[in-house]
Amino acid sequence: MLPELKRLVDLQELDKIIQEVTQSLARLPEELAAENAALAEMQTESEARAQELENLKKQKLETEKEVAEMEEGIKSSRQRLMEIKSNIEYKAMLKEIAFKEDQRDQKETRVLELLELMEAQNQGIAEQTQRLQEQRELVDRHGGEVKTQVTKLKAELAGLEKQRKELRKGVPAPLLKRYEFIRQRRNGTAISPVHEGVCFGCHMNILPQQFIDLQKGVEIIQCPHCQRILYWQEVEALEEGLSRSAT
Ligand SMILES: [Zn+2]
Repeated sequence: MLPELKRLVDLQELDKIIQEVTQSLARLPEELAAENAALAEMQTESEARAQELENLKKQKLETEKEVAEMEEGIKSSRQRLMEIKSNIEYKAMLKEIAFKEDQRDQKETRVLELLELMEAQNQGIAEQTQRLQEQRELVDRHGGEVKTQVTKLKAELAGLEKQRKELRKGVPAPLLKRYEFIRQRRNGTAISPVHEGVCFGCHMNILPQQFIDLQKGVEIIQCPHCQRILYWQEVEALEEGLSRSAT
């Protein structure tokens, strides 16, 4: 194989690793941001629940006050009942008292309902607080991990970039330019092995004469279908290379 071709194969492998590291560097903070957004949402929900509980408490206090007022009304009606002499008035007053008692009972039922609602709300808040705490811990823990990971990846990337710079020095500028041009258009793969006359980049047959020239290893040959720069590898070496990239 032409030495510059060998360097291009190495460069491509390196470029792929650099791409992966770069993607991880971009993805990690995004993951963290999503977790933080979930935490903020849970906090908002918690505040809404607390507000809802406050409303229930207020309603309960108001209703209890109403019950007390009604109780007073019933008491004074009963007192007046003692002073009534007319039978008709007496019956009318009894009816009025019964009506007031019925209304008071309804309010008392409402107080019990409110108590149940408050209990359910308290239960919900306790569960929500637990989830919130867990999410907070997750964000804290993952935040630290991401920070460490980012530092590590950045150092790794710096080392890879240095290696890349060195490798590029060994490839003639026009070939490097061609490599970059194809790489951008072919999803990061600009150089591809050929096996039994088939380009591994696009799985199409190259021209028989091209295959012969390729095996001679004296010139740069591009696939007539996908334009990738081609290199010829013995079957064993190729299989080893493919299984390595598959794991
Ligand atoms: Zn091809």
